[in-house]
Amino acid sequence: MKVYYDSDADLSVLADKTIAVLGYGSQGHAHALNLHDSGLKVVVGLYAGSPSWQSAQADGLTVQTCAEAAANADLIMMLVPDMVQPQVYRDEVLPSLKAGKVLAFAHGFNIHYGQIHPPADVDVIMIAPKGPGHLVRRQFKEQRGVPNLIAISRDASGKAHKIALAYSKGIGGTRAGVIETTFREETETDLFGEQAVLCGGIMELIQSGFETLVEAGYKPEIAYFECLHEMKLIVDLIYEGGMSRMFYSVSDTAEFGGLTRGPRVVGEESKQAMKKILQEIRSGEFATEWILENQAKAPRFKALRRMMQESRIEQVGKDLRTMMSWIAKP
Ligand code: NAD
Ligand code: MG
Repeated sequence: MKVYYDSDADLSVLADKTIAVLGYGSQGHAHALNLHDSGLKVVVGLYAGSPSWQSAQADGLTVQTCAEAAANADLIMMLVPDMVQPQVYRDEVLPSLKAGKVLAFAHGFNIHYGQIHPPADVDVIMIAPKGPGHLVRRQFKEQRGVPNLIAISRDASGKAHKIALAYSKGIGGTRAGVIETTFREETETDLFGEQAVLCGGIMELIQSGFETLVEAGYKPEIAYFECLHEMKLIVDLIYEGGMSRMFYSVSDTAEFGGLTRGPRVVGEESKQAMKKILQEIRSGEFATEWILENQAKAPRFKALRRMMQESRIEQVGKDLRTMMSWIAKP
């Protein structure tokens, strides 16, 4: 597999270009500041009255409405929330999207599921850091970077690949390494990872473990420590050295118990559920559900979010974390 580094990317491809970064949230602030610090010309696009307007200006950046920023730019990076992108694209980007411009994304959802249809004479690229925006910014300031994925949906100029690599260099991605993918692969695997494992599977695993102990009469505070708090210690070990490193660090009892009991908790039934979830992603069924949910002003999403926030483990955790001086207060 080819991995691109700093020496494969030429920042001068973007030297005389203006880059509009639309949105100044998690990814937006990191991209805009890193590109600016790399010596490139950046304008941030926001809506009038956005709370981010002041903070982007205080960070030394030029801020305009999305329509103005897009009109003045050669490359437009869409970093407003995925469900807001189609409307911002239609109302503020499309009117000035001329031949030779570049439209960029950090996630493939709207292109892959056909919510945004750019004109044929525009390059359509993706530069997706594999980490949250705050890490992208922090690593950059420490002269390092977060690995990036790049993808080309349309190469109208013949230079789309060079431009994507230059952008990645500008945000620090080529310092760590850049892997090429497709909009389809990035979108489907990203959705699957967050649904089945990262934001779905693990949350239910923690909840079920907590409830099992509490329902058996153990103190909720103890259940919290065993099923949620210690998750970070285990994940850090897996992150640093894989599953072998984690199993090496825990006791033999924990290792034997985990290897024999784990497959009983997450077994064939879970694998079948994962396959069904992947199929719903690939068929577009999940995308349709999420788009319609947003069009209806997200009633189910808001109810599910509230139920999660009000759950027992969340209440217990809020109190217990006040005992932990090293955890930053939100
Ligand atoms: P975010 O919610 O953190 O920030 C969105 C920004 O857009 C905010 O500054 C908000 O004020 C602004 N905004 C909202 N509505 C707007 C409008 N109508 N007009 C102008 N500005 C508006 O979003 P994010 O998490 O940074 O996600 C941006 C993109 O990056 C998405 O495509 C997402 O999939 C992708 N991405 C995010 C992460 C991550 O770690 N958060 C990682 C990889 C890719
Ligand atoms: Mg992801």
